[in-house]
Amino acid sequence: MAIHQNTAAETYRCPDCQGEIEFADRAWRCTDCRYVPRHSAD
Ligand SMILES: [Zn+2]
Repeated sequence: MAIHQNTAAETYRCPDCQGEIEFADRAWRCTDCRYVPRHSAD
């Protein structure tokens, strides 16, 4: 398993509400509106 990890903690912003997007349940999700950014794969 090759998991790429960034040493610097990047904070993703929700394009919808500018809220914080955190990694939960193996997926990124906005903590505010539950927006889930789409991945190119799958
Ligand atoms: Zn949001």
